Amino acid sequence: MNRALGILRSVRLRRQPSIFASVMVAAILGATPALADQADPLLGGKPWAQDQAVGYAWRSGQVPPAWMAVAIDTAAADANATRASRAAVFVRMTGGTSLVAYGEPTGCSTAGIACYNRSGAPSSFRMWFRAHGYIFDWGTLRWCQGLAVIANGCFDAENVALDEFGHVQILEHHVNEADGSDYLDAVVQTVSRARPAIGWNVHALGRCDTARLQLEYDRAAPRDPFSTCLAIETATTLKSSSTSVSIGATVQFTATLRTTGATLNRALANDPVSARTITLQRRTNSGQAWSSIGTMVPSNSIEGTYAFTTSPTATYEWRAVFTPAAGDGAVASFSTIVKITVSGCSGSGCPSGTLP
Ligand SMILES: [Zn+2]
Repeated sequence: MNRALGILRSVRLRRQPSIFASVMVAAILGATPALADQADPLLGGKPWAQDQAVGYAWRSGQVPPAWMAVAIDTAAADANATRASRAAVFVRMTGGTSLVAYGEPTGCSTAGIACYNRSGAPSSFRMWFRAHGYIFDWGTLRWCQGLAVIANGCFDAENVALDEFGHVQILEHHVNEADGSDYLDAVVQTVSRARPAIGWNVHALGRCDTARLQLEYDRAAPRDPFSTCLAIETATTLKSSSTSVSIGATVQFTATLRTTGATLNRALANDPVSARTITLQRRTNSGQAWSSIGTMVPSNSIEGTYAFTTSPTATYEWRAVFTPAAGDGAVASFSTIVKITVSGCSGSGCPSGTLP
C-alpha cells in the first residue's frame, strides 16, 4: 500500500480531482481491472461530430509564451495526424470558441500540470497549462521547451498537450499493465513521465488511444486498418454465379467482408472492410482438408467486395477465408460453404478428355 501511495503521490496529475480520487481508491484496493491491450476507456460527455473542425484560441490575458504556443499547436497537429479515425480536428483560429490558457487561473486540480474541460462538447472545450516555474509540493514545474538547456525532470509540453487533446476527443486514461510495460500503447496516461523516462516525449497517439477513437468515430475509409489494440469481429460471405455447371463452364465467386454488427464494435459495426486478403479454398468433401486456390481480387467499385473466376473440373465445396495482416486489429473469419456440382457434357462444346 505504501508503494502504491508513493507512486500515486509522484503522479504529475492532469485530470479532474473527482475522477482521480476514484482511481486512487481503486489502485489502493488493488481493484483496478486488468484492461491491458484494450482501448482507452471512454470519458463521459458528448462526442464531436465525425471530422468536426474544432477551433481554439488563446484565452485573453493567458496567452502562452512562444515556445509553449508552438508545443500546443504542434500537439494539435499530432492529434490530427495520428487519430487514425474520423475524430475531431483541432485548429487554432482567430475567434475560436474553445479557449486554451497558460498560467493562473486554471481549472486544474491542485496537483495538475495541465487539464481540460470537455463539458461544452460538441461546441467547445477548455484547456489549461500551469506556467513554467509553478511551484508544486513536489517541486518546481519545468517544461522542457521552456528550458534554455534541456535537463532531466522536465515535462514535454507537446506530449502533455497531446494527452489533453486526447481527453478533449473523449479518451479516458489508458489502463496499463501492473508493471507499466505497455505504457507506450497510449499517450493518454494518468502519469505523464518526465524526461528521460520511456515515453516522456512521444508525439503520436498510441494504438490504444486510436482504438477508442475508432470505436467512437469510425475509421476514415474501409481500406484503413483497425487499431491492433482492438479485436474487431468480422463476417465473410461467399456466393457463386451458379451452383451446378457443366465441366468447362466459368464460375464467378463473389465474397464480402464486413465487421459484424456486434455492440462491442460500436461505430465500427457493419462496416465494409476493403483491401484485405481473402483466400478462396476448396475441398472435395467434408472429410478432406481445404486447399487454397487463389487470392480473391478486391473490387475497385464496391467496398468490402472481392471476386474470383474459375472453371472447376469437378464437384467441390468452396469457402472464402479472411486472414488479417499483421498490423490489422481485425479477427479472421470464413464464409459458409458453397457447393458447386460439376457435371460432364456431350456435344461439340465440351472439352476433350475425361473428368479427373
Ligand atoms: Zn491525462
